[in-house]
Amino acid sequence: MAVSGILAFSVATNDQKGNSYHSLPVRVTRAVAEVESYRPKLELVEVSQVFATGTDSVVTALQPIDLAVPPGKFVSIIGPSGCGKSTLFNIIAGLQRPTAGDVLLDGQVVTRMIGLVGYMLQKDLLLPWRTVLDNVILGMELKGVAKTTARARALPYLKRYGLAGFDRHYPAALSGGMRQRAALLRTLLYDTEVVLLDEPFGALDALTRERMGAELLRIWEARKKTVVMVTHSIPEALLLADRVLVLSPRPGQVRLTVENHLPRPRRMDMEYSPEFGALAAQVRGAIA
Ligand code: ADP
Repeated sequence: MAVSGILAFSVATNDQKGNSYHSLPVRVTRAVAEVESYRPKLELVEVSQVFATGTDSVVTALQPIDLAVPPGKFVSIIGPSGCGKSTLFNIIAGLQRPTAGDVLLDGQVVTRMIGLVGYMLQKDLLLPWRTVLDNVILGMELKGVAKTTARARALPYLKRYGLAGFDRHYPAALSGGMRQRAALLRTLLYDTEVVLLDEPFGALDALTRERMGAELLRIWEARKKTVVMVTHSIPEALLLADRVLVLSPRPGQVRLTVENHLPRPRRMDMEYSPEFGALAAQVRGAIA
């Protein structure tokens, strides 16, 4: 919020002097540019959630949570079951209004996130009457891409996601892991700047999980997406993310934030380095 304050001050100075933005001294112009480049892509400001569960009873799912994710950063969230992770994602995705607080995208409070945020839920939610290929292109179609163009764009990805030859199959013919990969691919092809992934690799075996993690990193690096991912795996969180948040048991609140400066590109064998071990111990300690 302080960042918005600085930006507002710069603009006010500009107005008073009657100068145009471009005629500001270089130092000020640069400061404004720097402020803009630091503006979070996604921001949560004191977001909390209380559910009414009966006439007299309530469940506090989330204590006020603040979070600022810079553009193109990857944040992982770890927390025990029931601590409010899905609730938090539903709020960010605009599926649920928080009891209090705001969600900001590019500095603006947004209530309708449709088309702005890609969201992969824990359940794959593939449509049983659509083929795998037509499930994968659903997001593109919703954005107005013609079906033939969308299919042509999606087909090469099926191979990378271990779904080659299954484009004309229906979801019922797929294993749990394949369905999850199709759902991940659908979310990524929706091509939003912000992507929310709720345990995207939960149903995968360890090796496929690593491979899909590497594939996700490839897309994230190439397309400069801002990703927030829920996972239960400490190594996965650290291998993928720039920042790891540990949530407390319900009511969820941020118990620890770990800035992860391990170099990129990340390699799977980094898991065995002392630096990685120290970060993992920190996260583990906060979960215990
Ligand atoms: P997580 O994803 O971390 O497992 P959830 O966000 O699903 O946790 O749930 C957090 C808490 O809020 C849980 O105690 C859950 O029972 C409660 N909860 C979630 N949604 C509702 C709802 N619609 N009504 C009442 N309680 C809810």
